[in-house]
Amino acid sequence: MLNRDLLSLGIDLGGTKILTSVVDPEGKMLSRDHSVTPAAEGPEGVIRAILASAGRALEGASLATDRVSAVGVGAPGLTDTEAGVLFTSPNLPGWKDVPLRDLIQEKLKKKAFLINDGNAAALGEYYFGAAKGARHFIYVTISTGIGGGIVIDGKILKGSRGMAGEIGHMTIDDEGPPCHCGNRGCWEALASGTALAKAARKQIEEGADKTILTLAGGKIELVTAQTVQWAAEKDDPLAHQLIHKTAYYFGVGLANLVNLFNPEMIVIGGGLSNMGDRLLQPAYRVAEERAFNRAYRTVRFVRAALGRNSGVLGAAAFALDEMKRALAESETEAPGDG
Ligand SMILES: [Zn+2]
Repeated sequence: MLNRDLLSLGIDLGGTKILTSVVDPEGKMLSRDHSVTPAAEGPEGVIRAILASAGRALEGASLATDRVSAVGVGAPGLTDTEAGVLFTSPNLPGWKDVPLRDLIQEKLKKKAFLINDGNAAALGEYYFGAAKGARHFIYVTISTGIGGGIVIDGKILKGSRGMAGEIGHMTIDDEGPPCHCGNRGCWEALASGTALAKAARKQIEEGADKTILTLAGGKIELVTAQTVQWAAEKDDPLAHQLIHKTAYYFGVGLANLVNLFNPEMIVIGGGLSNMGDRLLQPAYRVAEERAFNRAYRTVRFVRAALGRNSGVLGAAAFALDEMKRALAESETEAPGDG
């Protein structure tokens, strides 16, 4: 069975960056390779970049490929975990039904597993971070989009094909702004950093106060969630109002999660969560108002602990976990099957 020597290679494929690491079963990263995703080169170029990164990560840990037991890939889009296919990705143009798992497996000659990046990050926090020891928890990352993963009774909720947990695309406002997924009023179309920046630009274009614009060097295209935060720190009323609205929608989504899953913990990560209490406290109040009181009272809101490493650690742990499961299954099947 598995022992402490088993290592896995985690790959966190993002729309802009690839992070690869050799990870031991305790979550120790023996190496770490960081590179740019050549997204414009399409699947072929990106896969080449992944393989090069994997090579450097192994080299960094002074290991040959055969020393790792499995490879886990976290991918930014709708994935079929069972088939190992990345269907589409808002961040990776030209990707359609790519059998990413098998392509990596073939090239590295190692058993590989594919998981959605939000689910990977959830598993990272579950095994090695803020949710260690929790049985029922939800990981929410709020940054340019909103993603996450749902762990129920100690297991990631994959759904029938691995597509579950797309929390960023639950409809919050049926007439809300369009989302890149094709729907409108999704949680991430209303409460992400991108949504916040968009709302700020709209207000400015409509003639609102110019503090945010000044902080963006007078260029409206440079207005980001960060600029809004800087303006809020200067007590700009428009910035306060915009963040308040984002917090409101964020809280509505949290209330839905509390009522649907009765988690003991909701772990919140991602760049926008660095706004801290300014964003999160009003969101928690909205969630409290809207969710079942008894369910709300049992939930703890906790900030994520692993930062950018959650995805790569989770992908690596997922790969080891799936290996373990496959091994256990083959052991129980062995006697009868001869
Ligand atoms: Zn959507």
